Amino acid sequence: MEKRIVVLPGDGIGKEVTKGAVEVLQAVGERFGHQFHFTYGSIGGEAIDTYGTPLPDETIQHCKDSDAVLLGAVGGPKWDTQPPHLRPERGLLKIRKELNLYANLRPTSYYDSLAENSPLKKEYIENVDLLFVRELTGGLYFGKPSERVERDGKEAVVDTLYYQKSEMERVIKLAFELAEKRDQKVTSVDKANVLESSRMWREVADEISRQFPNVELEHMLVDNAAMQLVTNPKRFDVIVTENMFGDILSDEASVLTGSLGMSASASLSEDGPSLYEPIHGSAPDIAGQNIANPLAAILSAAMMLRLSFGMQEEAKAVETAVNQVLDAGYRTKDIGRTVNNYVSTSEMINEVKAMI
Ligand code: ATP
Ligand code: MG
Repeated sequence: MEKRIVVLPGDGIGKEVTKGAVEVLQAVGERFGHQFHFTYGSIGGEAIDTYGTPLPDETIQHCKDSDAVLLGAVGGPKWDTQPPHLRPERGLLKIRKELNLYANLRPTSYYDSLAENSPLKKEYIENVDLLFVRELTGGLYFGKPSERVERDGKEAVVDTLYYQKSEMERVIKLAFELAEKRDQKVTSVDKANVLESSRMWREVADEISRQFPNVELEHMLVDNAAMQLVTNPKRFDVIVTENMFGDILSDEASVLTGSLGMSASASLSEDGPSLYEPIHGSAPDIAGQNIANPLAAILSAAMMLRLSFGMQEEAKAVETAVNQVLDAGYRTKDIGRTVNNYVSTSEMINEVKAMI
């Protein structure tokens, strides 16, 4: 097969880890006889420095013309004091809207060889296998107005939680479709005892669940979900929730089994190319030192192979290679609590490539 992949390395360790994902994809292409064509685009802080905007139109067009997008990370202290329209994170929000990336998928997988890195005891996390589905284009992140106001003569502020019913339907439906292929259970997370938006969310989940008689649906309040992710993570299969709750809970879920440096994500588009990225940020504290863990980016590439290209065997080959490298004892510093010999980013990349 022939595929066009746009790579957006972004800032900080984004550049170092996407290099790993690209090299591993190239190795997959060679082994399985695919042609992956890579083109590079600008986003985030480096785009602000070069083009004066965190997401140039040219980048958007490249992405729209591609089969899938691979993103590193954006941001850094250099741009933290810029006015809002010149913040790297603006580039991220904009690309989500432009590509219509409505669902963010984050698997939390268990690695026996990394169990000691978890803040939780092994018995709590052993064989945890859950999938977060976070709504990504609505809610508080995009609702208008979002501004400082004066009300009743008082200094005040307003953010808006806005959803169209159809935006809830499409992401909840996706969660059920994914659960059908997994352990047939959806946990829908909301705050229905307080929020009207959550009451609609609950209704929609009930409606959709009628189309999936084989999938069990449970509703859970977000505060309870935050607790149960730590006390009983094995009870979950697919968790679906709105944008803000999903942002917070999926970070929580991703550290259960180890490091930020291991956690991959996919942001699926309704009608165009999807975007794949590690969940960690640009980690300015370790950028440029060749010590970042490239596995989250590499595992994101595996998700691309599976979800955008339908390449099951190829995706499996990448995941197996990662497992073999971990089983052989290779560790970057972030996952190296139990070894005293760390490997660098580039050494880790080479080890994975050698296993493909
Ligand atoms: P953002 O706001 O962009 O999400 P953040 O402040 O949440 O950024 P991250 O950049 O995600 O922070 O990382 C937090 C810390 O975790 C980093 O400072 C770094 O030490 C560590 N870290 C993150 N990703 C990796 C990685 N791939 N390899 C090693 N360490 C990492
Ligand atoms: Mg973060």
